[in-house]
Parts: sequence; C-alpha cells; structure tokens
Amino acid sequence: MTTVYIISAPSGSGKSTLVNEVLKIVPGLEFSISYTTRPPRGSEKNGREYFFVPREEFEKMIREDEFLEYAEVFGNYYGTARLFLQDAKETGRDLLLDIDVQGAAQIKSKIPDAVSIFVLPPDRNRLEERLRKRGQDAEDVIQRRLATAAREIENYSKYDYILVNDRLEESIEALKSILLAERHRRSGVQRSADDSDMARAEHCRLSNVRERVQPILASFVTTAAPGGR
Ligand code: ADP
Ligand code: 5GP
Repeated sequence: MTTVYIISAPSGSGKSTLVNEVLKIVPGLEFSISYTTRPPRGSEKNGREYFFVPREEFEKMIREDEFLEYAEVFGNYYGTARLFLQDAKETGRDLLLDIDVQGAAQIKSKIPDAVSIFVLPPDRNRLEERLRKRGQDAEDVIQRRLATAAREIENYSKYDYILVNDRLEESIEALKSILLAERHRRSGVQRSADDSDMARAEHCRLSNVRERVQPILASFVTTAAPGGR
C-alpha cells in the first residue's frame, strides 16, 4: 500500500535540501513533481523540480479535475496531479509531496492516513541567513518570505511530525527515520525497521516537541513587523 508523506516548511528552512537527500537514501520513494505557474529559478528544469505551465493551462487542468490538490502561493498556482498518486499506487512506491500548508490540509482531508511533516528552522535569524545564503531572492522578497514564515509556522501543530532543521546531517537522519518508521508501522511486520529509526521518529512526534518549538515560535513573534505581509 502506498504511503503518502507530506512535507511543508517556510521557504528557506532547508526542505528541498532534505528532500533531495532522503530521495537518494530511501528506496521505493517517489517525489511528486508539482505543476506551477511560476517561472523556473536558477538551474531548475521543466519536469525535474516542477512542470512549469502557463496560467491558462493550469486553469484548464483545474477545470478537468486533474489535481488532487492545488493552491495559490506567493501569487502563483501550485498543484499535485492525481496521476502521480495513481502511478505510485500501480508501482507500489511511496509518494513524497512537497506542498504548502493549504495543500497539506486538502490532502489530509482526502487521504487521512497521509503522514505530515513540518520542517522548522532553528530560529528566525537562521532562516534569514539561509534565505540570503541561497542567493535567489531580492531583499524585498526575503522580507516577504520572513513575514509569511511567521504566519506559516503557526500551523505547525496540524502536522504529525516536527523536524527542527538545525544540523543538516542529523536532520537528514531524522527525516529518513520518520519515513522508515511509518513505513514499518504500516507494514504490520515486526522489527524490520531499525529501533533507532523508531526512537528518532518518536523524538520528532508533535506531542514530543511542543517545548522545543516554543522558543522558535517566540523568535518569530517578537521580531515580525506588525501587520507585515
Ligand atoms: P527550502 O527548500 O526550504 O526553501 P533550501 O533547501 O533551498 O530551503 O535551503 C535554503 C538554504 O539553506 C540553502 O542554501 C541550503 O543549502 C541551506 N541549508 C539547508 N539546510 C541547512 C542546515 N541544516 N544548516 C545550514 N544551512 C542549511
Ligand atoms: P517554491 O516556489 O519556493 O518552489 O515553492 C513555494 C511554496 O509552494 C512551497 O511552500 C512549496 O511547498 C509549495 N508547493 C510546491 N508545490 C506545491 C503543490 O503542488 N501544491 C501546493 N499546495 N503547494 C506546493
């Protein structure tokens, strides 16, 4: 049975980095390539990071009910094609969706046993550093992303797992462990996943992170510009 994993995060948290790394090390996992109306950035290639389509084509796909979910993010449409889930089911692979908070809510209502993971930066300053380091956005865009992040992270408690992306190597291990522990749990097979995967996954479970998350949330509340959007 195909397991659907949803991963969301404020832009710049390191989600793409983590996703790319786990795709290399977790077998039988497929990345759902979304459709978007935003133009490609940097070295992005059509059909690799996204399918880049004109707005009219995206709207036609909406009318023809080709999306499992879609949303408007930063003024552009983004959507998950139903075909990806069908394909994963046919080939017996699990599916990883990198989608925003609105898309995650739509998937959870349609596929209640989807596993959701929210990636958080260690604090607001580190997020700002990473957005600058990535070097893809102008200053006004960075400020907009930071203001949006402050609102997005308020949704953290709707997710099953919270991954604080501090040290990259540890975060890759933690994400891998969540995927393997859930896969194991659903298989009903005893002890195929390593116990250390189970322990690492438990450490990230929502009910176990509430205290760790408070200072991160506070770093956004105190420095966010009033009414900043
Ligand atoms: P997102 O997909 O969430 O927008 P990226 O994966 O593009 O974020 O990461 C933003 C920047 O932060 C990139 O330059 C990436 O190399 C860097 N980065 C990611 N994870 C970490 C980490 N744990 N520590 C330091 N830098 C990181
Ligand atoms: P970016 O433009 O930085 O690649 O992505 C912007 C936001 O859109 C991110 O939060 C990303 O997770 C989200 N996103 C990417 N694909 C989809 C999708 O298919 N559906 C939804 N709802 N959000 C998506």
